[in-house]
This record gives sequence, structure tokens and C-alpha cells, in this order.
Amino acid sequence: MKIDQATDPTTYRAGLKKIRMRRWFLWVVILGYLPAMLIALDSSDVRTWVTITFSTWLVLLILAVALACLVRCPRCGECFHTHGPTFLPFRRCLHCALHVNADKRAPEDNPPEAKFGKKQRSANDQDKQPKT
Ligand SMILES: [Zn+2]
Repeated sequence: MKIDQATDPTTYRAGLKKIRMRRWFLWVVILGYLPAMLIALDSSDVRTWVTITFSTWLVLLILAVALACLVRCPRCGECFHTHGPTFLPFRRCLHCALHVNADKRAPEDNPPEAKFGKKQRSANDQDKQPKT
């Protein structure tokens, strides 16, 4: 897959906005656990409210992680935060290194290469193949 690094990042605005929204949902769910549990522990019927709060939080966490895992990069079309079975909520695409705020930032002169991107075969590798 050839990725055009020179394309204007503002063309990816809709896809990047979707990624940012799913990241925000994930972090709000994660950070919302403690205050929700503190409120549940202060209630008069502690066992019931702690059970309801934890169950609701667990379902929301599973949903948030699933949505964050499945969101696609607008540039390369791969899963933005997922490489194989590994979920890594970094701020750059794991496949093409597109930044999650690329449409809001100035273009990078030397964009970093993807840490987990597919290896591209060089011309030397092609020469090493046996000729048939
Ligand atoms: Zn990408």
C-alpha cells in the first residue's frame, strides 16, 4: 500500500474528528469510574448501587474500547489504534503515523515513520529474490 505523505491533512478532517470523539469517550469512561463509584458508596443502599455502577461502567468500557479499536485511519484505511490483537491508544496511527490532530496542526517537515507499519521492500530486497 502506497501512502501519500504529501496529501493535505485537512482532507482527513471528518475521519480524524471521529477518531478524536471515540478517544474522548474512552477516556471519559475510564476517568468516570472513580467519581461514579464514590457516589455509589455514599448511597443508602450500597450493595445495589455499587453493583449497578460497576456493571454499567464495565459495559461502557467494553463499548468504548471496541469503538476505539475499530475506528479506521482516514489516510491508510487500517485500524488507527490496533495492530494485530494489540490495542495501543497512541496519538498517531500505528500504520502510517498520521497524528490524531493532523488537521489542526501545521504540516510536519519530517513526519515520523510508523512504529508498527508494514515493512516496505527496498530495491535491494527485490534483487535478492531467486530468479526463476
Ligand atoms: Zn493510518
